Amino acid sequence: MPASRVGSVQRPVALRETSPPAVVPLSPAPLMADKDDGGMTAWPPDARQAQPLVVSRFAPSPTGRLHLGHACSAMHAHDLARAAGGRFLLRIEDIDPGRCREEFVAGIMEDLAWLGLCWDGPVVRQSARMPRYAQALERLEADGLVYPCFCTRADIAREIAASAAAPHGPEGVPYPGTCRALLPAERAARRAREPHALRLDMARAIGRVGALHFLDVGAGRVAVDAAPFGDVVLARKDAPVAYHLAVVVDDAAQGVTDVVRGVDLFAATHVHRVLQALLGLPAPVYHHHPLILDAGGRRLAKRDRAATLADLRARGDDPRALLESLRAGQLPIGFETRLA
Ligand SMILES: [Zn+2]
Repeated sequence: MPASRVGSVQRPVALRETSPPAVVPLSPAPLMADKDDGGMTAWPPDARQAQPLVVSRFAPSPTGRLHLGHACSAMHAHDLARAAGGRFLLRIEDIDPGRCREEFVAGIMEDLAWLGLCWDGPVVRQSARMPRYAQALERLEADGLVYPCFCTRADIAREIAASAAAPHGPEGVPYPGTCRALLPAERAARRAREPHALRLDMARAIGRVGALHFLDVGAGRVAVDAAPFGDVVLARKDAPVAYHLAVVVDDAAQGVTDVVRGVDLFAATHVHRVLQALLGLPAPVYHHHPLILDAGGRRLAKRDRAATLADLRARGDDPRALLESLRAGQLPIGFETRLA
């Protein structure tokens, strides 16, 4: 029997299950007492009484069929909500018109239905929410925290090669900041005629929000350090929003209290916490689970057909048995997990 552990997400649900909802603490005490973020911390105790105690979500991009890693993520999010009598939401992260396809949206719902993981309420699609992201961008821009970037990939690579020692950040070498230094007149003129991305002035943003923390159920209270990301893109040249901003705006708009996702997104939480603070949005509790790897120790990708749920179904796997073994920490033969 394969014995690799799924590394189940720790669930602080016992409290939530056994206590009457109105008096259940919504987060561990240390964060409740967190006063170092200018009053922008997530949980004034009365702010969530109008909604279920636990709202989790599964938020895939329709760029391919779901694989075993998605099943694990969706299952953790689903079980967390169900155990607490909360809500489990489905959000389709389809902001990338070049890579997202309608057939994969249908595939996501088909695969979840096959697994028996039912979501609550309507499916939210990011492609339908562009005005909300634009509002958030306007607010950040009005605060002087956003600037247009006209660089091509080649421009950025050239700039990085020319600089002495570019430190590596969580998303590779951070943007060297070329366009941050443009004079207002040039910036305005070029903005009117050139395609551009919008970037967050990270140093200024960090100065604005001060010291922050986020709560990860596995890692505990984590001090935010978003500086290594540099000036992240908030709106892309080819799409009116980028991942970091959309996810933060949507989690808040949907009242998500608990974000369950792969540990590959752990680092991004630093950026997300800064954006939450800048926009005055609540911070969810994070549950980062280990990634599932294939027999060669590689991360599962949507291009690996062998690992898709559609394939497991096609070969006759029993979805109930699959979920039960995942819940018990067992993976099918040929897969393993890693916290990296
Ligand atoms: Zn630039």
